[in-house]
Amino acid sequence: MYDLNYYGTDSDLLGGEGQGPLPDFCHKCGRCCRSATTYSSYTKLQEMVANGDKEAVDFLEIFEPYESIEAAREAVPDQVEQVLNIVASRDDMKLEDVTFYHCRFVTAEGLCGIYERRPRCCREAPAHGWSAMPPGCGFEGWQFEQRENQKRMIRDMKRSAYVLEQMSPDGKTHPLRPETTLDDLRALVAEKLKPWKMFGSDHW
Ligand code: SF4
Ligand code: SF4
Repeated sequence: MYDLNYYGTDSDLLGGEGQGPLPDFCHKCGRCCRSATTYSSYTKLQEMVANGDKEAVDFLEIFEPYESIEAAREAVPDQVEQVLNIVASRDDMKLEDVTFYHCRFVTAEGLCGIYERRPRCCREAPAHGWSAMPPGCGFEGWQFEQRENQKRMIRDMKRSAYVLEQMSPDGKTHPLRPETTLDDLRALVAEKLKPWKMFGSDHW
């Protein structure tokens, strides 16, 4: 599942720097190219294209919607089931907004027909540990590691915030930077946590 227009770009989610070249764990099965979805509805994507959104333009240049969920299910059944289960479990997504897409450029062998000029959403997939890749994708282990690293970073951030609160001389002032208040610090931590809330960061 692509994060298009959900929290900005995928690289925003990763801290604005992008994640650099990914290790080559891909089995070249082509299933992700035949079962793409986005958090934004197809209608929303079309609006974004009309407004010149580069990522939406790139996405709809290569991806064509399936006529129905059943048609997508015939192509990549386990991925369609996985995505529908994710959507059904969330309050902020509606089943009627889900569209599955297949790429115009994936070959019958599952390879990329435009590999050297494939768009960024393909170069950076999976964008992060929670991107819903098809079951059995070669990136499963990599995604597990990414999820664990991200959780660790969030926990470290929360722990540091608690320690600073305890060290504060008056419960309001940052103990190491007196020009900053603890409210500033809490706001900063909340801002950093925001993109990960949908993946459960409140409980990490
Ligand atoms: S589903 Fe995973 S292993 Fe298959 S082509 Fe996509 S990235 Fe590669
Ligand atoms: S452009 Fe290539 S990598 Fe991207 S979805 Fe199409 S076939 Fe897959």
